[in-house]
Amino acid sequence: MDFSTVVSSMSGIGKKRFECFLNLGIRTVEDLLYHFPRAYQNRGDILPLAMTPDGTVGAFLLTIATKPQTVMLKNRKQLTKLVAFDDTGKVTLTFFNQPFVKDVFNVGDEFRFYGKLSVKYGKRDMSSPVYEPVIQGRKLPDLVPVYPLTEGLTQKFIKNANETAIKTLIEEKYDFPDIFSESQLKKYGLMSLKDALIEIHFPKTIESVKKARERFVFEELYAFALGISLAKSHRKNGNAFCMADTNITDILKKMPYKLTNAQRRSVNEILADMSNKEGRPMSRLLSGDVGSGKTACASIALYAAVKNNTQGALMAPTEILATQHYNDLNPLFEDLGIKVALLTGSTTAANKRDIYEKVRTNEIQIVIGTHALLNEKLEFEKLGLVITDEQHRFGVRQRTLLAEKTHLTGSYDAHVLVMSATPIPRTLALILYGDLDISVLDELPPGRQKVDTFLVDESYRERLNGFIRKNAISNQVYIVCPAVEDTEDDESGLLPFDFTDEDVRKTRDNKLMSATGLAEKLQNEVFPDIKVGLVHGKMKSADKKRVMREFEQDKIKILVSTTVIEVGVNVPNAVLMVVENAERFGLSQLHQLRGRVGRGKDKSYCILVSSSENEKSKQRLNVMCSTNNGFKIAEADLEQRGPGDFFTNRQGDARQSGGMKFRFATLCDMELLQKAFAEAGEILQNDPKLSLNENKSLASYMDKLFGRLQNS
Ligand code: ADP
Ligand code: MG
Repeated sequence: MDFSTVVSSMSGIGKKRFECFLNLGIRTVEDLLYHFPRAYQNRGDILPLAMTPDGTVGAFLLTIATKPQTVMLKNRKQLTKLVAFDDTGKVTLTFFNQPFVKDVFNVGDEFRFYGKLSVKYGKRDMSSPVYEPVIQGRKLPDLVPVYPLTEGLTQKFIKNANETAIKTLIEEKYDFPDIFSESQLKKYGLMSLKDALIEIHFPKTIESVKKARERFVFEELYAFALGISLAKSHRKNGNAFCMADTNITDILKKMPYKLTNAQRRSVNEILADMSNKEGRPMSRLLSGDVGSGKTACASIALYAAVKNNTQGALMAPTEILATQHYNDLNPLFEDLGIKVALLTGSTTAANKRDIYEKVRTNEIQIVIGTHALLNEKLEFEKLGLVITDEQHRFGVRQRTLLAEKTHLTGSYDAHVLVMSATPIPRTLALILYGDLDISVLDELPPGRQKVDTFLVDESYRERLNGFIRKNAISNQVYIVCPAVEDTEDDESGLLPFDFTDEDVRKTRDNKLMSATGLAEKLQNEVFPDIKVGLVHGKMKSADKKRVMREFEQDKIKILVSTTVIEVGVNVPNAVLMVVENAERFGLSQLHQLRGRVGRGKDKSYCILVSSSENEKSKQRLNVMCSTNNGFKIAEADLEQRGPGDFFTNRQGDARQSGGMKFRFATLCDMELLQKAFAEAGEILQNDPKLSLNENKSLASYMDKLFGRLQNS
């Protein structure tokens, strides 16, 4: 057996089960071992019966007090009952249709039970708890993994499959394909791949799981660092058009406003890059908050490119954004006698052919579009400037592909400008965009309204509802929740896979507001007369679109959602953003959410709802109330939570960042990130193409990762 062995060859996994595994994306042993738990049951914290409140899910160490008694119920179900106790009290344990437990529980024996304790009128009860005998000299595991499941597979089955796989691999002395060498493992104090995988599935302690997880965090950051560094080495040097003519008066005259200072500074930096006499291609990040006017800078750069007899391309992540850009820029360029085309997936075949033809002959000078721009049939006569609007996070993949595109188009390089709407602190940007120079738009155009932001707790609920009603009647309202559905009761005692120390300490009754639950409640009980809509990541894309359209058309007045609305939604009539369990979100994410309102002429508000007593998280949320400046917020976020949030969000719908899917990077700190980049740099210095034998595992890992990225 090795990592590529197909799981259907394992005993007990027949055709039917294999189908189930495939549904989970598991085909090989490697997939199986990388199918990580989504959470852990914390059975290591033993709770005292008497001090544990009603409804708590947890572990209890109990001695059997009475012989189990089975009775037959009317509905022919069998009910077995017994009493057990600890130092603080006693509890009645009930098992349905498991008469065999009679033989398991002997008076005086000790067991660890895990389940939900109910306390009614001073009487304690547990129904069908999980049980493990306490055996002298054998330690029970603190954590028990909970896997994502699909129909036809049980927790136990996955656990057993893992056990079999790991046992077999060890027996056969399989050499786990660790991308880290012995010396690297030692240098960074990392667990080996083998040990870490064992630990993830068969955890010994909370500390050891953390250690295993840390290895995968580092692995992911390291791969990310390598990816960025490899992309950078793709860049050729000294072969770009020198755009000597930087006179932009004509386009400035056509613009209906004066540039802000930040825009002027950034434009100058861009033009200086593009007119570099050594022909070094520009490779610049233009980072600025939503609404800071990046498009204006982009249009000036495009104008300069065309004025110097080259062509320009502007790529946006979605069709909506591409169309928006086209509608913004086309009138301006038309006025200047420059031809612009829009090319997206839904451009008709005939139109596409026409555009390809005219771009090839420079009849069209600027193409705006989506990934459709990467189509190899699109050939430029002279592509001088490529702009990508990442809008969100870091699209390593897009950037790599785009670099290749420019290779396709001729014997020179295009200047590259990347626009990002996520304000990133400079220190972090230098790492994440190490290969780019950076321009910052840290100033909004004049006359923008400030979105007034307030932090409230549960005691404001009624007033809040009044405020929602008022704004829903006059305008429209967003309400964002951290969870999609009300969590099942038996979820409440779980530690999430990416648990923090805070989670381990966390009070158990900290229920998350769920979008589904809240939407129902608001519609049925609070606002029966106002149309409430619901949108979340688990919905089908067609349904999502329909709801979004109804919101855009002002048919839905209150939109309850998870963070899916973070990206690319523009409803200027929405004036109130309410965020439930605000403590659950990163500041940068809250800032993005807040950016959904304040887009129209009407005064807008953001209400953060949080009942967290945690001083730190109150402090964090107060930053939101005191400033609207995305860069200040990002700095505070980085300082307080580390860079993890810049990769992804814990409670978000998709752990995705513009191409690379991060599973663990939420857990990283600045130091770890720096180490990963330093290590990647060192490796590539010795082996720039990862062709040495000693880096074979690493090379195939990167191939797979980026191969996957290209296909995803
Ligand atoms: P983003 O940085 O989010 O891409 P946009 O470029 O879309 O921002 O600009 C947002 C809005 O601000 C647009 O309506 C644009 O016309 C306007 N705008 C851009 N620059 C200025 C400016 N210097 N003065 C006034 N309005 C501006
Ligand atoms: Mg924009």
